[in-house]
Amino acid sequence: MEERPGNEDDTVVIRRMPAAVPVVRRSFLSAGLGSAAALLLAAGFGAFWWQRRAKLIPIGIATEAKIDQTQPCETIVTYLAPDKSVVVIDFPSLLSQGLTLDRVAAFVEKADVPHNRVLDDAALRAAIAASGDTISSYYYGHDYRAADLARFFALAQSEKIVLNPQELWLKQLLHQLGWLQAGVNGAIITLPAAGGVVSPEMREVILRHEISHGAFYTVPKYRHYTEQFWASLTPADRAAFTGFLGRQGYDTSLTELMLNETQAYLIFTRDPRFFNAAAIGKTEAEVNQLRQGFIANMPDFWLTPLATEPLPPAPQSMPACPAEQAILAVGRKRLCLCYHRGGMALTERSTIS
Ligand SMILES: [Zn+2]
Repeated sequence: MEERPGNEDDTVVIRRMPAAVPVVRRSFLSAGLGSAAALLLAAGFGAFWWQRRAKLIPIGIATEAKIDQTQPCETIVTYLAPDKSVVVIDFPSLLSQGLTLDRVAAFVEKADVPHNRVLDDAALRAAIAASGDTISSYYYGHDYRAADLARFFALAQSEKIVLNPQELWLKQLLHQLGWLQAGVNGAIITLPAAGGVVSPEMREVILRHEISHGAFYTVPKYRHYTEQFWASLTPADRAAFTGFLGRQGYDTSLTELMLNETQAYLIFTRDPRFFNAAAIGKTEAEVNQLRQGFIANMPDFWLTPLATEPLPPAPQSMPACPAEQAILAVGRKRLCLCYHRGGMALTERSTIS
């Protein structure tokens, strides 16, 4: 999802993610209990095993509402509660999100860059600059299917592209999920913490948009429905959406990307900063007619209620977030309201002006 501050056509660019695989490796331990030799091995390598186990990235489970109500001070990974083949990465800042996923974005779907090779640092910097963006603003949210991420990392390795620590972390996460293999049904969606140009309300808009992409990747009947909807549009309507998406930096030659983003913006991005009727040269009435048509025939599954449900009111406890933490004003004090893996935590902070 892409957002362009100060521009009415602001768009949230949201990416796809792969399916989840259980992480706990209990089978390794119980297999070791079968024989004396295995016990000896387990003893010998116990420290090594625990060390490896300790490095597993924690993955929780969260609903949309839970994510909306919290604010990450570190990168948080959760399975999306209604569909655990969708994994949500909640980044503490736009910068950390961009460092992790901008190279993937270029590879999978950005305009004016090749999709058959992975960009090195210099080429990526040039591509981001040429698009008028920064690492932080290249996308405001991301979404990728498992297969595209696996393809990215395989190609990066074969082309000997040097990846940054954030990208290597993502590769570790995918390995842990089992998503670097072929045939996985899964998707990763991402959003940044509120802060800077990202308001708490915008964070909710980004998440709703990205969730729709998650469904597109992991629920075949929804993907087929979206394809049918796209085919049912007039050539002029398809051109209107394609033009809008091209102005947001998407590669318009990718038909699946066009129809996926169309469902996300038209139905699940009810914020004029990101999408509005004028952005596609239509009236509100015309856009509403398209929306009604889509929603009326949408297959009934976990995403369906979100097509019409308003976003919840943004939490009062996270107004402007100046750095990577939400600030809660209590009387004259300002407190950091941070979401850690164990839950919310409040800490007094004296350095905020
Ligand atoms: Zn999108």
